[in-house]
Formats: sequence, C-alpha cells, structure tokens
Amino acid sequence: MAVTEKTSQDVRSEIRAWLAENWDPDLTVGEWWERLADGGWAVPTWPEEWHGRGLSRDEANIVGQEIAEAGAIGPPAGLGLMLAGPTIVAHGNDEQKRRYLRPIVTGREAWCQLFSEPGAGSDLASLQCKGERDGDEWIFNGQKVWTSGAQHADLGMLIARTNPDAPKHKGISYFALEMAQAGVEVRPLREMTGRALFNEVFLTDVRAHNDALIGDENEGWGVAMTTLANERVGLGAGGGAARSGAVPGTKTGHLERRAGDFAKGGGGAQMAMAARGGGMMLKLAKGLDKTGDPIIRQELMKLYTLDQIARYTTMRSKAAAKAGKRPGPEANTAKLMMSKITRMSRDIGLSMLGPGGTLIGKEAPLGGMIAEMALFSPAVSIYGGSDEVQKNIIGERVLGLPKEPNDDKITPFRDLKVGTQR
Ligand SMILES: Cc1cc2nc3c(=O)[nH]c(=O)nc-3n(C[C@H](O)[C@H](O)[C@H](O)COP(=O)(O)OP(=O)(O)OC[C@H]3O[C@@H](n4cnc5c(N)ncnc54)[C@H](O)[C@@H]3O)c2cc1C
Repeated sequence: MAVTEKTSQDVRSEIRAWLAENWDPDLTVGEWWERLADGGWAVPTWPEEWHGRGLSRDEANIVGQEIAEAGAIGPPAGLGLMLAGPTIVAHGNDEQKRRYLRPIVTGREAWCQLFSEPGAGSDLASLQCKGERDGDEWIFNGQKVWTSGAQHADLGMLIARTNPDAPKHKGISYFALEMAQAGVEVRPLREMTGRALFNEVFLTDVRAHNDALIGDENEGWGVAMTTLANERVGLGAGGGAARSGAVPGTKTGHLERRAGDFAKGGGGAQMAMAARGGGMMLKLAKGLDKTGDPIIRQELMKLYTLDQIARYTTMRSKAAAKAGKRPGPEANTAKLMMSKITRMSRDIGLSMLGPGGTLIGKEAPLGGMIAEMALFSPAVSIYGGSDEVQKNIIGERVLGLPKEPNDDKITPFRDLKVGTQR
C-alpha cells in the first residue's frame, strides 16, 4: 500500500514506534544513519525504491519533528541530501542512482556545489569553467568560488561549459566530480564569523568519466535548475527537522563517533540561524524579562506578523505545488521575507542583549548565538539568489515590467562579453 494513503497520525505513530525501537545514542553516527536509511526515514519524501517512503512534505515534517522530539539526530545534513540527491533522483539514470544515492542517504559521501565562479554568481549561466571530452572521460579547467563545505566533500556537483559555440544556457553540462584527485585544490575563505564555511576551488586538468555526466551533454542548465529549485525549498523549509552538528562524508571522522554526542543539535551559524524568527525572540525576551519594554514589544509584534505572513506564503506555495502548478512568485517573496526576518531577528536580539550581544563563545550570553547570527545575517540576502535578483524576477515575471535588453539567449557564448551582468 502506498504510504501516501496513510493519515498524518499514522505516520506520527509509525515513526514514534520505530524510533522507540531503533534510536540508540551509543550507535556510531554512521551506524545510526544506516539504520535511518534502511527504515526509509532519512528521506521520507523520496520514492520507496530509492530509500524513501514517498511521503508528502507535510508528512516528512512530522517525521522531522518526531526525530527531534525523541532526542535523536536527524539524517545527514548538507548538500548531498538537500541538493545532489533530489537532482540525481530527477535526472540521473538508474546506474547513477545506484552509485550515488545510498552513500548520500547514509552520509557515507558528502557533496559540495561547484556552481558559482568569480564572474558567474547571479548570472550563473556566464560560467567559464571548461569541460572538454577526451575519449570516455572529460577534462575540466577553471575556478569555482563560495563552495560551501568543499573541504569536507567527497563529490562535487560541477557545472561546466562544454560547448562555447552555443548560447550561454545551452552549452553547459552537469557532472558528479570526485574531489579526491590531483588537480583539485580547495582554498578556504575565512568569513567575518571567524569560520571558513566556504572555499575557492581550483580545477586543473581534473577528470571525470562520462558515466558521471548527469542528464544529457549540454543540457546541464535544466539539471542545475532542479538543484537550485531544491536549494530554495531547502532554505525556506525549516519544518522542524532534527538538526545535528554531525557532518557526513569520509573526511571529518564523524561517522565513527558516538551518535548521542551530536544529539544536542548543531553548532555555530547553523544553530544561530535556526534561532531567528518571532518564537525564539519572544522566548529570549521572556528569559531576559524584556516583554514589558514597549519598543521591544512593538518590534516583536512586527516580527511575529512577518513570521505569520511568511508561514501563509509557504502554505500557498505548497498548495500550488500540490495542485500541479509551477512555482510562482511565492518562492521569491518567501526568500525576500526570510532575509527580512533574519535582519529583524538580529536587530531585536542585539537590542535586547545590549553589548553582551556582541560576544562570541561559550561564556557569552546564549553561547554567542545572537552575535553569530548578526555576523552571518548578510549571507541570507545573498545565497540562493540575492534579494535584488528576487526583486528583478518579481518585477519582470509577476508585475510584467520590461526586461533589460539582452540578446544572450541567441548569441554563442564565445561571442558574449562575459563577466558583466547582462
Ligand atoms: C553563505 C553562502 C554560501 C554559498 N555557498 C555556495 C556554494 O556552496 N556553491 C556555490 O556555487 N555558490 C555558493 N554561494 C554563492 C552564491 O550563490 C552567490 O554568492 C550568489 O549567487 C551571488 O553571486 P555573487 O556573489 O557572484 O554576486 P554578484 O552576482 O556579482 O552580485 C553582486 C551584487 O550585485 C547585485 N546584482 C547582481 N545582478 C544584478 C541584477 N541583474 N540586478 C540587480 N542587482 C544585481 C547582487 O544582488 C549583489 O548585491 C554561496 C553564497 C553564500 C553567501
């Protein structure tokens, strides 16, 4: 029987019973993730034949809530499960699904996203990293930037220019790139949080077998759009999924460590960003006895209102998706709202904590969570499509404003003036 025919209550009871039987903090992270994958609970929305249960997003949110409630750690965090997996489910052939999906779901292999380049961010289709065919293999040369988690990644979702004679969106192909090979150089970029979340990645005569081409040659733009659509959903979803600080892949050594040691949630920016929003700020105000302050009350109310509007927008977007409609302006407004909610949370948090809000570290108020959020907050307006780009999309596709004059859909890539925002 298809799991989607069950009620939400059935799903809740089933995952609860399964967790009572299976969660054991003394397992290693690797063993726990294998168990979660075998149960189909790591990726409940994926098809049953590919390690999932075919559940709806709402039902999957219930699973996430129950995992958190049980004090267990959630499925492997990171770009494998969030981006590479759904892209391969949608565009990979069966051999690729067999090769890549299980290690993603069990956290055995970590992925990074090799998309952005120094001259190709908002205008991603201007990318210049070159992919050239050499028999059964491809050879890549170029530079990527802002590659989150490249230092821990076993594989990269690489988009490269494989036909410079075609217009820029038509000559791109999508590959699964093995990161552990000569010619892949990962250089960390340190942010103002003090961490190095992302990296520059230099590719010099790096190789991939043709089996690693996801989708058809020169049709990688459509594949990349699936990755980016999942990024927007993933960034906006929240949904009560259990977070942990355990990092998938072979490089961090977390797979061999005790699962229970990660059960108290993630760290750094991840937890700080989870703290944004009206609920957390209200809790903080109560804890600090600030709910009587009229200015704080007013700001909390504004934040609460925006939170609720964002929630309704997400509901509209889900209802549209359920009805088979293409993503509409809701995704863009949701992204803009997320940026605003983050900035408002940062400002309220800092004004409640005062100078203490600028401190970082275990001894700082709230473990330095608000300061981390403040330092990381500009990133939210940039990743997953910057605020300005969201506004352009709303202007052009929703309000019907004229596009900037542009012939790059028909001009061969090699004739374009690249590196400019066209
Ligand atoms: C925390 C974080 C993690 C990231 N992780 C990854 C990753 O793992 N892999 C990856 O590939 N990339 C990653 N990125 C990169 C991200 O996708 C890019 O930063 C983003 O697409 C913007 O590109 P850019 O930085 O080149 O800025 P640009 O595109 O150069 O933009 C610069 C400024 O110009 C504005 N602008 C650009 N075009 C227009 C226009 N047409 N109209 C109006 N304004 C415009 C932008 O809004 C921005 O303010 C990450 C970024 C961040 C912040």
